[in-house]
Amino acid sequence: MSDNYDLVVIGGGSGGVRAARMAATYGAKVAIIEEYRYGGTCVIRGCVPKKLFVYASRFPQIFESGASFGFDVKAEFNWQTLLNNKDKEIARLEGLYKSNLQRFDVETIEDRGLIEGPNKVRLVNADKILDTKRILIATGAEPFKPNVKGAEFGITSNEALDLKTLPKSILIEGGGYIAVEFTSIFLGLGVKTSLAYRRDMVLRTFDDDIRSDLEEQLRHRGLDLHYQASITKLEKTDDGVLVSFSNGEQAEFGAVMFATGRTPNVKGLGLGKAGISLNGRGAIDVDDYGQTMCPSIYAVGDVTGRVQLTPVAIREGAAFVETVYNDNPTKVDYSLIPTAVFTEPEIGTIGMSEADAASDHKDIDVYVARFRPMKNTLGKKTEKMLFKLITQINGGRVLGVHILGEGAGEMIQLVAIPMMMGATKADFDKAIAVHPTAAEELVTFKTPNYTYKNGVKVE
Ligand code: NDP
Repeated sequence: MSDNYDLVVIGGGSGGVRAARMAATYGAKVAIIEEYRYGGTCVIRGCVPKKLFVYASRFPQIFESGASFGFDVKAEFNWQTLLNNKDKEIARLEGLYKSNLQRFDVETIEDRGLIEGPNKVRLVNADKILDTKRILIATGAEPFKPNVKGAEFGITSNEALDLKTLPKSILIEGGGYIAVEFTSIFLGLGVKTSLAYRRDMVLRTFDDDIRSDLEEQLRHRGLDLHYQASITKLEKTDDGVLVSFSNGEQAEFGAVMFATGRTPNVKGLGLGKAGISLNGRGAIDVDDYGQTMCPSIYAVGDVTGRVQLTPVAIREGAAFVETVYNDNPTKVDYSLIPTAVFTEPEIGTIGMSEADAASDHKDIDVYVARFRPMKNTLGKKTEKMLFKLITQINGGRVLGVHILGEGAGEMIQLVAIPMMMGATKADFDKAIAVHPTAAEELVTFKTPNYTYKNGVKVE
């Protein structure tokens, strides 16, 4: 193995792998260092296993609805089967990530990388120095636990994906993506689920109608919700964990999970040796092209603390390679990022919330439709879907689309294409509806439910 490289990537997750592979296709000699498993958070302990659990958690509802379509299903759930199959799939994907890197002539190194200077990376276990023209830091982020007494008795999403047995009850703290997604998973799998959040409604940055409708439907599914409440202390008991809350209450749960954000993985990276300091959020500052304050060192993905989403890290990795290895300076456009929250019901969202659009654009039209999806009409399910379109007034540009209900994640991916092209409400209107679907709501809105004039709501 030669020790001179054009690029050494530290971190074999989504951003690092994409950058390593692309740089190699442009002829760069690339090594990638990963200390745990190739695939990173998304594949090993994030998006992929989570989504598999989401699928599992939806089966009870499917079986229940089956009755109204003439199916009498008696089903039993086996947690261990799910874990085993999930592990097999993750191992398969991990193998693919590694073999793809090798197919592109990227050298894969299982070790811990430590920056020793602008052009040097030490392999900690092999105790060997790699010389390189450039370094890419793509080390991701890790779950953050608040500094409370007994925090070690609480798990995070990492452990939640590998629990030996399903607890009878669980308390989840947080109000973000991970909190609501795991809440929904545990509810679906029959665990008595409670959520504690320090403010007054989950998913703080989302559109208010989406937030309140999701909250209502999670409650309807049995969620025990505690707002204005934080965990102050955890104590181990024979049956689980005793939780003390900021409001003075105490309660015991089978397990407690912190979903209180993720912090950039920068510990023990040797950033100081390259003169790189951290910003106020504990992340590595980079310019529009991913370059740190040390010109030979770049960073992409969660470690930069910008947008913690896999597809964004992948875009950042690709933009870095275009800029540096293809003489094509490329910035990532963060203006319109579609995203899904895989709760039950699911959220798909892109663009501005109603509140943000009203304060930014002042004059907007808001179209809202709530209806019981056809799939629910034969049975007793009363849950409604929500479609919301926020546009500049009089058929102007579509500023935000928010969907709650089955398939919302898939739908929002498609909506992202016209949105990126600057589509107007008039453009949406030109599209012929696909009938009978739920998505046809997007192209059949006639008159706004209400408007905002100069930022003020007019019914
Ligand atoms: P989020 O930033 O989404 O949410 C963190 C939550 O924890 C917030 O509700 C926050 O409250 C709360 N919180 C933070 N610090 C404390 C504290 N000290 N005490 C109590 N509560 C606290 O992070 P997540 O961990 O949910 O997810 C991390 C990232 O991963 C997300 O930003 C998302 O981008 C990504 N992700 C994406 C998914 C997807 O695309 N479907 C799925 C899962 C994760 P407050 O609102 O007050 O700040």
